[in-house]
Amino acid sequence: MYAPKDKPQVIVPVRLDESSPFCFKCSNELSCFTKCCREAHIILTPGDIIRLKKRLKLSSDEFLFVYTSLGTIENTELPVPVLKMREDETKSCPFLVREGCGIYEDRPLTCRYYPIASGTFHNLDESQDERFFALVKESHCLGHDLGDEITVGEWLDSQGIREIEQANRGWTELVLRRKSIGPFITIQEKTKQMFFMGCYNVDAFRRFVLESKFLDIYEVPSERIEQVKTDDYATLDLAIDWMRLTFFGDPVLALKEHIVEGDTIETGP
Ligand code: SF4
Ligand code: SF4
Repeated sequence: MYAPKDKPQVIVPVRLDESSPFCFKCSNELSCFTKCCREAHIILTPGDIIRLKKRLKLSSDEFLFVYTSLGTIENTELPVPVLKMREDETKSCPFLVREGCGIYEDRPLTCRYYPIASGTFHNLDESQDERFFALVKESHCLGHDLGDEITVGEWLDSQGIREIEQANRGWTELVLRRKSIGPFITIQEKTKQMFFMGCYNVDAFRRFVLESKFLDIYEVPSERIEQVKTDDYATLDLAIDWMRLTFFGDPVLALKEHIVEGDTIETGP
C-alpha cells in the first residue's frame, strides 16, 4: 500500500471493480506535485526490482543493499523490500528529481496504482481468488475529481500495471497461499531467507543455481538453464517453481533419480 507515514489517508469504503469509474488527474501544475513522493511506504515486488536494477545497471544484491530496507507483507510474516526514503529533511524518494519521478518508466507498482488500492479475497469455496479495488483519498492529493472519467481497468492499462503483475504472478500466488494458511502457523527463518532470495534477489538465486549442487539435485532442462544465465524473469520463474516444490510439494520441478526426497541444499552464502 502506498501510504505516506503520518499523513491522513482515507480509503473510500466503496468496493470497486475494473468497470468502476472515477476521475483523477495528476499534474505538475498542482500545488501538491511530488508531495506523494515524500515519506512514502513503498514495497517493492519482484517485477519492480528486476526493472529497477536493470535501469540503474546494478546487480540485485547492490540494488537491495543501497535502496531498500526490510519490511513484512501484511498478515504473512513474509519479508519484502521497502524503498528507503532519503535521510535528509526532505525524506523524499531517492528517485525524486526536480522535474518529478526520475525513473518514471520503471516506477514501482505501488506508485503506478496510486490512487487506487487493490486487494484479493481468497475464497475457500471457489477456485478463483477475487480481486477488489478501492479509492485512496489523502488530504494532500489534489488530483481527485479532476480530468476525464476513467474506469479502474483503464487505469491499470494506462499505468502499465498488468505487465508487471504478470511477472509477479508466482510471487502473488505464494503470498496468497501463505495468507490462506492463517497467522497461527509461524514461518521458519530459513524459509523467509529462501523466499527473500528467490523472489527479490535474482542474481543471488542465479548463483545458487549455477554454483551450488542445485543442478545435481533438480532436473532442469538445458534450455531453461541457458535462459537462467541471462534472463532475470526466467530466473524468477525457476525460483518460484523451487519454492512451490519446497514449501508446498507442488510437482513443478523434478528431483534427479538418485536424489532421495527430503534431501536439501544449503541456501546460505
Ligand atoms: S495529484 Fe496526487 S498523485 Fe499527483 S502529484 Fe499531487 S499528490 Fe501526487
Ligand atoms: S518512484 Fe517515482 S513516483 Fe514513486 S515515489 Fe519515487 S519519485 Fe515518486
